[in-house]
Amino acid sequence: MAHVELENLVKEFDDVTAVDGISLDIPDESFTVLVGPSGCGKTTTLRLIAGLERASDGEIRIGDEVVNDRRAYERDIAMVFQNYALYPHKTVEENMRFGLEQHGVEDETITERVNEAATLLQIGDLRDRKPAELSGGQQQRVALGRAIVRDPAVFLMDEPLSNLDAKLRVQMRAELNKLHEELSTTTVYVTHDQVEAMTLADQIAVMDDGQIQQVGEPTHVYSNPLNTFVAGFLGSPSMNFLEGVLERTGSGKLQLDLGSDTHSVPDEYDDAALADYLGERVTLGIRPENIALNQDGVPANVHPATVQVVEPQGEKTVLELELDSGESIKAAVNPDTEVTIGDDVNLRFDRDSLHYFDPQTGESLT
Ligand code: ATP
Repeated sequence: MAHVELENLVKEFDDVTAVDGISLDIPDESFTVLVGPSGCGKTTTLRLIAGLERASDGEIRIGDEVVNDRRAYERDIAMVFQNYALYPHKTVEENMRFGLEQHGVEDETITERVNEAATLLQIGDLRDRKPAELSGGQQQRVALGRAIVRDPAVFLMDEPLSNLDAKLRVQMRAELNKLHEELSTTTVYVTHDQVEAMTLADQIAVMDDGQIQQVGEPTHVYSNPLNTFVAGFLGSPSMNFLEGVLERTGSGKLQLDLGSDTHSVPDEYDDAALADYLGERVTLGIRPENIALNQDGVPANVHPATVQVVEPQGEKTVLELELDSGESIKAAVNPDTEVTIGDDVNLRFDRDSLHYFDPQTGESLT
């Protein structure tokens, strides 16, 4: 087992800076997920840790050892790829044995480890099949098995579930969770899928444009995004953003003038960070699940809106609404809510779940 540390890591490809000064501590036994949109540098970061790319600058430590100059096979890591990368002409068993045989591990030990991994992944009865005779999910299990038998200090996984259908992905996600509980091997996992990241990670690193935007425990990052990028990236449907001018009323309360509508800022958010923006524009962030519908006009601090789209999604119904200002906003409500297109409703924002941001920099003010 080992912890992994990245310090000011940079990777340049000609004129593209794929990784732009990343520092990240990946604790021993953690399941750390690098998540972000396509092209943000996740795969390149993983390939740098693996030794498949050479860093342009910065340091990579596995355990306490600087590994920048170590080749991939000297790094005590095992990688699992999106496309499984199984040898098509070898059987499941041969695929799992191959890496260990290359490393000159004793036959008896190999058999023992392959048996253990096959039991763990429930692929014992597939041993004699070739990859083409397996389903996608079974192939991915074999690919995991091949990594497990190596008993490495660190697993590196690059979108390993992305070729599976939706149902199988959910199932394999649960299996990966269980596997990590059982083996506790330090894992660095790359995905662009924020749901996958939230469910698998004990530490999440949200990346954008070659940089880490925020690191932390998934629910903490979800509830306390440091900027509009992180706030908007995590969550589906994503956080609503409304811009307005910050004012102080005659009675001394902060409010945002949203155009045709005003939003009263609860007292607990009234501190120096926000009050500094008096007279200036501020972005209000509110997640769809933190918006409630009050059809029978409730007095204070509600936002009139008209229902435009009703999208039942099973466990919730997503509504697209138009505010009086003409802006569009999404709310996720209980599926039993009786609402139809064209209804005029009042929206109430949960006062404990409000976020305020600087519209220019996107930085959180709360
Ligand atoms: P995706 O989710 O689409 O795989 P990613 O977040 O993993 O994206 P990377 O594959 O790390 O992103 O790529 C980051 C940037 O570096 C992109 O702009 C990409 O085009 C560029 N890049 C990656 N590999 C190379 C390469 N070998 N040569 C030149 N540019 C590269």
